[in-house]
Amino acid sequence: MSRVLNFSPGPATLPLPVLEEVRDELVDYKGTGISMLEHSHRGKAYDAVHEETIALLEELVGCKGTHEVLFVGAGATGQFAQVPMCWLSDGQKKADYVDTGAWSKKAYKAASFYGTPRWAGSGKEGEKYVRAPMDLDLDGDAEYVHLTSNATIMGVQYDAFPDVGGKPIVCDMSSDMLWKPIDAEKFGVIYAGAQKNLGPAGVCVVIVRKDVLGKMKKDVPDIFNYHLIAEKRSTQNTPPVFPIYVMNKVLNWVKAEGGPKAMEERNRAKGEVLYGAVDAHSDFYRCPVEKGSRSVMNAVFNLPSEDLEKKFIAEAAEQGMLNLKGHRSVGGIRVSMYNAMPIEGVQKLADFMGEFQKANG
Ligand code: PMP
Repeated sequence: MSRVLNFSPGPATLPLPVLEEVRDELVDYKGTGISMLEHSHRGKAYDAVHEETIALLEELVGCKGTHEVLFVGAGATGQFAQVPMCWLSDGQKKADYVDTGAWSKKAYKAASFYGTPRWAGSGKEGEKYVRAPMDLDLDGDAEYVHLTSNATIMGVQYDAFPDVGGKPIVCDMSSDMLWKPIDAEKFGVIYAGAQKNLGPAGVCVVIVRKDVLGKMKKDVPDIFNYHLIAEKRSTQNTPPVFPIYVMNKVLNWVKAEGGPKAMEERNRAKGEVLYGAVDAHSDFYRCPVEKGSRSVMNAVFNLPSEDLEKKFIAEAAEQGMLNLKGHRSVGGIRVSMYNAMPIEGVQKLADFMGEFQKANG
């Protein structure tokens, strides 16, 4: 066994028991003589997995009966376009977007093809994104308020959500889905590419509140028609069978570990360890994000120079801690510590940070 500590922002580390189960079932899924890579999406073996995965998400998100749980392709990026295509494009309707960096900008740009998005708030100060803005300038005519619950690149996360006066929130939860319990009722649409907290790349989970589904256009191509996707339980065309199967195992793991509440306790503890190491040497490790908005999924910080950052990344890698380089657009260090990253992994990195500062500070 030569597993390293993988701090990648996504595709990200998966729980080891999930990988082991997948390995054990890979060639012959539960005595069917067929791999899940080869099973038909219309067959009994896969159907049971598919339905259980929907039920697990309903349970863990707390949206059974109120929302439809859908699986689609084209990632969260696809939802940047599909939501406004289906919701705004009749009569160029308006929507409020909140700027927390690159992902929210992409969502805004996609919406502008179909409707009239406007910025209702920004977390930017100077050149950096420093907060998840709570004080929003909302347009009464907006159909929805679009938030990115966790800005994966900027390391900015909403802990509590802003008051949006009862408007449905459309939320990109790609990088913090199930990091803690949420009040699903507030959310008109939740979407999340699976490859961070939910499973492997290849499937995007979309959770649509039933009243919001009623607002979605039907005269769009079948593949984009939320009504049809819901009616056909996400099997109008071939769903990403294998990613959904692996996601099923991740969700079962989350449930067995104590669900979102237990994930929250662990994630907050990991955040304390990591930011504790940053703040212990705040002249050496500088986090641009305000304390209340620091992401416990992706912590970002800088060292005094780019050379030191390179050295940090190289020495951490030598000690089996990989993928710590910040996003190419912002540089620095990024530590991704999703649900599946154990606290021991974060502790090892925090210890290394202390030693590295001592040797280089
Ligand atoms: N939104 C956020 C917050 C993300 O972190 C990412 C991927 N890193 C995306 C959207 C894009 O997701 P996908 O690659 O699944 O389209």
